[in-house]
Amino acid sequence: MDRGNIDQKPAYVEIVPDFYCDETGEPFVNCMECETDLIASDEQYFIEKARRRYPNTQETLTIFEFAICLSCATNLNQSLSKESLNKISEFQADLLRETYKSDSELHSNSGGVGNALNACLFSGNEISKCEEYQLVGAFRGNKMILHDLPFAISGEIIEAMSEVLSDETKDEFDGFISKHFTGPPELQELWGKPKLILI
Ligand SMILES: [Zn+2]
Repeated sequence: MDRGNIDQKPAYVEIVPDFYCDETGEPFVNCMECETDLIASDEQYFIEKARRRYPNTQETLTIFEFAICLSCATNLNQSLSKESLNKISEFQADLLRETYKSDSELHSNSGGVGNALNACLFSGNEISKCEEYQLVGAFRGNKMILHDLPFAISGEIIEAMSEVLSDETKDEFDGFISKHFTGPPELQELWGKPKLILI
């Protein structure tokens, strides 16, 4: 995602539990696609989690989660239509321009992980009030990279973004998710919803 030039150097911090693997309760170890050992390889990788909040609680249910190495993420991106990717970047840039008055306001959160995950990057809405949301972060080894990631995105914006995608790209995303995840029955209704891979 293009969020303009950031002069700040990336900082490396401990991985916050928000990005731990739900299944193990510990940090992710392997790339979901090629199974490379993410910690040993020292290659950059990404984690994406989609969550739904139980109504009126802070309890969440993970809809899908994965860690993916930079090479596999690049392959995935190259398989998507350029038109869809351009549309989504434009849409994101427009939202950011609407929400933030300046570049420095946009990046004023970059000081801490907590701030970045508490509000939707694109709308500024509080994540604690969102029924659905996604978190995306970048990592290397057992550290989290603080730069233009991590960010949180609200379900509302996910739906709006997915509307600009071509049917072909929507199918790609659906295929990617269903290849790796078989949700529990209580999540069935969510599988018909738009999905967005943000890495
Ligand atoms: Zn991989």
